Amino acid sequence: MEQTFVMIKPDGVERGLIGEIIVRFQRKGFRIVDAKLMKVSKETAERHYFELKEKPFFGELVNFITSGPIFAMVLEGRNAVQNARLLIGATNPAVATAGTIRGDFATDLASNVIHGSDSDENAAREIDLFFQRQRDFAIYIS
Ligand code: UDP
Repeated sequence: MEQTFVMIKPDGVERGLIGEIIVRFQRKGFRIVDAKLMKVSKETAERHYFELKEKPFFGELVNFITSGPIFAMVLEGRNAVQNARLLIGATNPAVATAGTIRGDFATDLASNVIHGSDSDENAAREIDLFFQRQRDFAIYIS
């Protein structure tokens, strides 16, 4: 069984979508290994999205992720990374298929309700980052 990291972003928490989203993952067969409601620091947000640091929307993205509480989860299941992203849907909710979380609950590219790791490597890194497993993060921030 693989693990992945999923985060309900501040817009999803604010809109009361935590329960609805958890139900969808559990229905698919995921097991919740760990979960918490938390506020993300600027440093953690920058580390989380370090791959996007050259993008023009990076500053806005960090501001958004730190703007209110998020709900972080470690989910376990078969092909966890790929299956979670299937339930989450395309990055841009305007083209996300109906039936996916973004397709059903979001319309805006920036405020797209949820994050899911995009690789096993990033899943491990993000689980470490948000759930403070002991590791040196320095290699990820250059
Ligand atoms: N994002 C944005 N503008 C863009 C592209 C992405 O605000 O033009 C935000 C959006 O919230 C997205 C996040 O940056 O979820 C991370 O982008 P990525 O390409 O990694 O997509 P994801 O893996 O979240 O689908």
